[in-house]
Amino acid sequence: MSGSGRIDDLPPLREVIASHGLAAKKSLGQNFLLDLNLTSRIARSAGSLEDHDVLEIGPGPGGLTRALLAAGARHVTAIERDPRCLPALEEIAARYPGRLTIFEGDALKEDYFGRLSAPVRIVANLPYNVATPLLTGWLSAESWPPFYASMTLMFQREVAERIVATPGTKTYGRLSVLAQWRCQCTIQFDIAPSAFTPPPKVTSSVVHFTPRATPFACERKKLERVTAAAFGQRRKMLRASLKSLGGAGLLKKAGIDGERRAETLTITEFVTLANLLQA
Ligand code: SAM
Repeated sequence: MSGSGRIDDLPPLREVIASHGLAAKKSLGQNFLLDLNLTSRIARSAGSLEDHDVLEIGPGPGGLTRALLAAGARHVTAIERDPRCLPALEEIAARYPGRLTIFEGDALKEDYFGRLSAPVRIVANLPYNVATPLLTGWLSAESWPPFYASMTLMFQREVAERIVATPGTKTYGRLSVLAQWRCQCTIQFDIAPSAFTPPPKVTSSVVHFTPRATPFACERKKLERVTAAAFGQRRKMLRASLKSLGGAGLLKKAGIDGERRAETLTITEFVTLANLLQA
């Protein structure tokens, strides 16, 4: 596909960046996607948008925002920390009256969910420095199913691999267990560093999350206690790494061999251990 990406009658993103003085700031994790064909591909991989509200974190100059609106999103709520981006985003809002709401703020500190109407899809090219805390926050929602119907998020390839990792692999860990306990997670496609301005050091991947309607019943905090202890000392046998939680006795009750290591346990086995922990 050509890089011109004519999906609307707004100016090309390079012009937007030049006219609004949006030189990328490393401190804000700013690596912009300027190819609207590529941002349209991310928007498409989110699923149907016409009947959904979209929450976008970090719209920057608006490449993904424009793709979401051109793809027919019912409404987009965009949270951007960098005030320099707001005038460019207001121009997009004017092009799509009543369909884009922009908030200036830190997505880690503020809760915008109350302002969205279900069903909601979260779609974002996340700033790398806050991607994992944002994700774990969304995965840790107290009520389940959560407020969102899906999440389509871009991460560094290494983080994406940890999210979808299976038992017995080096990348399988706390994030894999939390993510896969609550969601079906798939890597959709990779994006090369050269697609970004400026290019990051590593390849990125788009991951799609669909919340499981009924994850195995378990208290999230107990599951996290078990995975923190087990993977905190991942090279030790479980009877040693889980000592403070009941060690050999706990493992015996769960029917799990104490000589195994954390990375061999399935998610169901972690859930069994968590459910045996005392309150
Ligand atoms: N969505 C744009 C794109 O695809 O080109 C920009 C993506 S850039 C990787 C990340 C964006 O998140 C930047 O615009 C940055 O200013 C913004 N950002 C960084 N930290 C943030 C935070 N805590 N809350 C909201 N936005 C943040």
